Amino acid sequence: MTAHAVRLNAVTKTYGGNKRVVHALRGITVDLPRGHFTAVMGPSGSGKSTFLHCAAGLDTPTSGTVHLGEVELSRMNETQLTELRRQKAGFVFQAFNLIPSLTVTDNVTLPLRLAGARPDRAWLGEVIGRVGLGERTGHRPSQLSGGQQQRVALARALVTRPEVVFADEPTGALDTQTAAEVLGLLRQVVDATGQTVVMVTHDPVAAAYADRVLFLADGLLVDEVWSATADTIGQRMTALGRRAGAVPC
Ligand code: ADP
Ligand code: MG
Repeated sequence: MTAHAVRLNAVTKTYGGNKRVVHALRGITVDLPRGHFTAVMGPSGSGKSTFLHCAAGLDTPTSGTVHLGEVELSRMNETQLTELRRQKAGFVFQAFNLIPSLTVTDNVTLPLRLAGARPDRAWLGEVIGRVGLGERTGHRPSQLSGGQQQRVALARALVTRPEVVFADEPTGALDTQTAAEVLGLLRQVVDATGQTVVMVTHDPVAAAYADRVLFLADGLLVDEVWSATADTIGQRMTALGRRAGAVPC
């Protein structure tokens, strides 16, 4: 096993062409160590989502390389990438992206069924229990609160036993209390099972759950802190906002 879960080397991402070129990432080199919780912060438009998408193989860098474990993503075709994501990655987004017509159980098992695997009932029970939805397995998303829906999405991300869970603003649509529950669960993913979590957030309180916080500004990695409080993280964000001339968001 590699020490890193994810490795980016000189990654750039440019969108558009001719006069409307956007340099979303301008050369990112970073290792995300296994068994750690990394948060990615930065002003709106600084490249956070692009970073996450490139790291997870959801998007292809313009130049540079990305390794997920030992595998280099640019060497893979679209089919291989899809397979790799199914095996190694779990995803949680701000909009929970659940299927309204499916029950909790069927939403959670969807990635397994897409991969042609049969859900193991004991494991399914454990995953759904871990996110505290053991009593809600037959419910549909519309019958659940926002926090409960995001916990379904987290169970769905965990059911395939991914090496890395990628989360883009997972608490962006939640109130403080339910956000804390979801963040506690992400923390537990790392502490209890040694999986790796990479989370984009604009909230210093959310980022304080992480072991390490990376700060992006204008497509560059400009700062990082380890084991920081929300206050420290907030101060770094404010400094970034001044530097980038942008409103932290
Ligand atoms: P963040 O998540 O930090 O808000 P993004 O990674 O979404 O930032 O975007 C970084 C920059 O790239 C922004 O200027 C954004 O407008 C641009 N961008 C992102 N995705 C696309 C796209 N598909 N096409 C064109 N520009 C994009
Ligand atoms: Mg974003």
